[in-house]
Amino acid sequence: MDFNFLNQKNPQNKGKKGQPPAKFGGSIAGAILFFMLITALYLVVSGEGKVIPEVAISDLAKSVSAGEVKNILVEGDKLTITYNNDEIKKAKKEVGSSLSQTLFNYGVTSQALAKTGIEIKNESGFMFLLLNILPFLLPIVFILLFFWYLSRQVKGAGMQAFSFGQSKARLTDPNDKNNRVTFKDVAGCKEAKEELKEIVDFLKSPKKFLDIGARIPKGVILTGAPGTGKTLLARAVAGEASVPFFHLSGSEFVEMFVGVGASRVRDLFKMAKKAAPAIIFVDEIDAIGRTRGGGFGGGNDEREQTLNQILVEMDGFEPNDKVIVMAATNRPDVLDPALIRPGRFDRKVILDLPDRADREEILKIHAVKKPLAEDINLKLIAERTPGFSGADLYSLMNEGAILAARENRKKVFQFDLIRAIEKVMLGPERKSHLLSKKEKEITAYHEAGHAIVASVLPHADPVHKVSIIARGNAGGYTLKLPLEERRLQSKREFIDDIAMSLGGYVAEKMIFGDITTGPSSDLQVATNLARAMVTRWGMSDVIGPIALVDSGGRPQYGEIAEREFSETVSTKVDAEVSRIINDGIKSAEKVLTEYKKAFTAIAKKLIEVETLEQEEYEKILTVHGIMLKKKEEAPVS
Ligand code: ADP
Ligand code: MG
Ligand code: ZN
Repeated sequence: MDFNFLNQKNPQNKGKKGQPPAKFGGSIAGAILFFMLITALYLVVSGEGKVIPEVAISDLAKSVSAGEVKNILVEGDKLTITYNNDEIKKAKKEVGSSLSQTLFNYGVTSQALAKTGIEIKNESGFMFLLLNILPFLLPIVFILLFFWYLSRQVKGAGMQAFSFGQSKARLTDPNDKNNRVTFKDVAGCKEAKEELKEIVDFLKSPKKFLDIGARIPKGVILTGAPGTGKTLLARAVAGEASVPFFHLSGSEFVEMFVGVGASRVRDLFKMAKKAAPAIIFVDEIDAIGRTRGGGFGGGNDEREQTLNQILVEMDGFEPNDKVIVMAATNRPDVLDPALIRPGRFDRKVILDLPDRADREEILKIHAVKKPLAEDINLKLIAERTPGFSGADLYSLMNEGAILAARENRKKVFQFDLIRAIEKVMLGPERKSHLLSKKEKEITAYHEAGHAIVASVLPHADPVHKVSIIARGNAGGYTLKLPLEERRLQSKREFIDDIAMSLGGYVAEKMIFGDITTGPSSDLQVATNLARAMVTRWGMSDVIGPIALVDSGGRPQYGEIAEREFSETVSTKVDAEVSRIINDGIKSAEKVLTEYKKAFTAIAKKLIEVETLEQEEYEKILTVHGIMLKKKEEAPVS
């Protein structure tokens, strides 16, 4: 039997050190051995090991009548018969009736009985207990023990078969100095911190606010892309205010058993009110807080009940309950409107992806415990990582340190971090992924195609690196980075991006007259972009500025996919998408034909050296008369 599946990958095991599975197997074997011993002992004690012949009570009656019996020893309902010839036999009488009565019933006369000695012995207390109760007790004990073992294994695991109604919130104690997180540990997010300071103030001195009649927000919802530090910031609020922090993730409410979610919510709020002032933090609340209604299947009912219970609990807050509910999600668009109305999660704190300065700060925070070499320039790393989230930067620093440690260096150097950027962006290099000569050629022309299109088209981002070494899922890659940070993207940029994505496909077709499966993900990128241009951003002249889909681009979960636009519009959209893609292909073809010399030069160089850094790459461009992209006069900031 394998119970281990209940136990894997559960963060809750951290608290109570879970028994390693091997030991579990050992203890089962031990238990079985133990019970075998007990059973053997029982058999010996109860004397069932010895073989004493048994007689039927009717035969015994005959023997007594015939005067052949010397003595009968009565122990409970057991009879030990000693015959005149010293033979010993066993018999059993009916429970509850006396021996003499039984014998009379079998026709033994009192005279005959008088000749037989009858000795009645009470079984000793302990023996009696052992012999009579053990047969019943043993299986029960065994079952109990079995469940006890099971529960020990299951404890903390997902199932919690013995305590399903209880909240599984992890509590962070404000006095725990080691795990304490404060605003100092969170870089950037200035506006968010500003918002949350108010909450901290309230938790620190609630009286001040209550005296003046201010209504304190009950709920704060943190939204932002994954890895922007929502969880971290929530912890920091608790740390700043020095209050207990109940941490639970949305999916933990809804587990195997229906009805558990709601009872967990009740339990959690009860606990928090007891510990007030306190923070309840529901991470990834979209797991339960999605728009209600239109649900099908039990899972959704469960979700709705849980959500309802949260709403009920929040409405039931007294002003002096001093419990603040924080929640985090990266899908604020799918949340139920009832959650975000005033009186519930009425504060919304938005966490953006960090900008250049913030990225540098985050890198600094995560560099603290790592010995850095003198050549480290975190500013440069921050410049090279637009679009990275806090979590990406954390993992970048970590990868850098791992690279340095693997090469037995005591310090982390700049080139470790540079390599780490690519690793975080694209996954590890797969140097063992050997290409045949032909594949290598195809990949080289493919990537050169991307690169040249990107470098020639005016609105595409400049190329930083081209490589035909496989990485993650990609056979090769062309790394391009925007010249500067940008929040808005324009139609022209998208059009050039699509052409650049198709550059690999066009290159393969042009050089080899055939297409491989290589460009499949490129085509997906291009198609998705084109579709979004038409349906979301109003960038098609035919459709006009109409948003046909929501920002997720797909029907929401839990709702029956409904066509929001007619068949006619749908046909037009498809036509527009293929027109944009075809335009992209034409523009890529034009570039690659016009700059065929540069294109083949890059591809040949790639076959030779496999990776081209920006400098070498740009040298080849200049030789073939392609202008390099320059940063526009940067505004002073
Ligand atoms: P989210 O909950 O938004 O997905 P997390 O709060 O779990 O992201 O962030 C993951 C990790 O990324 C954090 O533990 C932290 O190490 C790092 N991180 C994210 N944002 C920041 C930040 N602003 N400052 C410092 N570290 C950050
Ligand atoms: Mg999180
Ligand atoms: Zn490609």
